Amino acid sequence: MKEMILWERPLARNTGFAFDLMKGQSVRVTSQTIIDFVCFNRENLRERFDQARTKANQRKVFLTTGDMLVSKLNNTMMTIVEDTFKEGHHDLQEGMCSRKRHELAAQRGVWEATYGRPLSEMPSHGCTENLSGVLAPYGIALEDVPSPFNIFQDMIIREKTGVLEHSPIRPKPPGAYVILRAEMDLLAALSVCPDVSVGGTTGATIAVLEPER
Ligand SMILES: [Zn+2]
Repeated sequence: MKEMILWERPLARNTGFAFDLMKGQSVRVTSQTIIDFVCFNRENLRERFDQARTKANQRKVFLTTGDMLVSKLNNTMMTIVEDTFKEGHHDLQEGMCSRKRHELAAQRGVWEATYGRPLSEMPSHGCTENLSGVLAPYGIALEDVPSPFNIFQDMIIREKTGVLEHSPIRPKPPGAYVILRAEMDLLAALSVCPDVSVGGTTGATIAVLEPER
């Protein structure tokens, strides 16, 4: 089906954005670095995307074209209709980066080992602050922001031990995109992650698409 762009906007690195997405509309997310993506049922903002249900219901930990984002109430919220990130996988294990997470890693002396960067590159804030900031006007508290679908976040998962490691694999310039179609009316939000482990310096572009009638 042919689609037209309703609107499109650039997003700077380490910023967030929230927007409405009606059933049948799609969002196209283009980036070279990680995007933390969450969504909520527009009619009941307490119904949120759920990492666990999304994994368990589909019996997999990597999502791509044809896979769904599922809520804790087992409703399909979105379907991935296109995914051009072929170099790696998207993540459903990690939460969101935050200043507190970074400070805790630094206090434990593992920041540089975790992120593979000098401590001087610790960002002042991260996806937690970005998402909670843009969702606050909707009455959504930080505690109620779900762990996201981490688009373009390639993780190494050790099969026998379950150990997680950051991978440097990201979309090659000028970036890859993922198109997600809303299966219900949604409030969606995303954060352009500072993506410290690859020294991310790029922003992202999002576009909302609607089927032509
Ligand atoms: Zn982040």
